Amino acid sequence: MRRLCLAPNLAIATLWTDLLREAGIAASVQRAFASGSTGLIPPDQALPEVWVQHDEQFDRAETLLADAQRCPQRLWTCPGCAERIDGPFEQCWNCGHAMPASDP
Ligand SMILES: [Zn+2]
Repeated sequence: MRRLCLAPNLAIATLWTDLLREAGIAASVQRAFASGSTGLIPPDQALPEVWVQHDEQFDRAETLLADAQRCPQRLWTCPGCAERIDGPFEQCWNCGHAMPASDP
């Protein structure tokens, strides 16, 4: 097993994992428990991680995920919390606010 990436939240980690599974890659979401210097973060707020089961599928998984994040290319600012959202997301991953109709 190798760790592919960190996800901003569990919903996106699940989305990426599903995408990899559809491509025939055995991937899973692991809760990233607070470790080392970040011991102040409660476990339920730690970022989830996406892991690839088989090392030989790692490079392909990386490429797939990069493609998924690149297309469609969108960058918008959340009106709810001012988070910068980059990627194919129509909801803020921080506060759940919907994407505005147009980015001012
Ligand atoms: Zn937000």
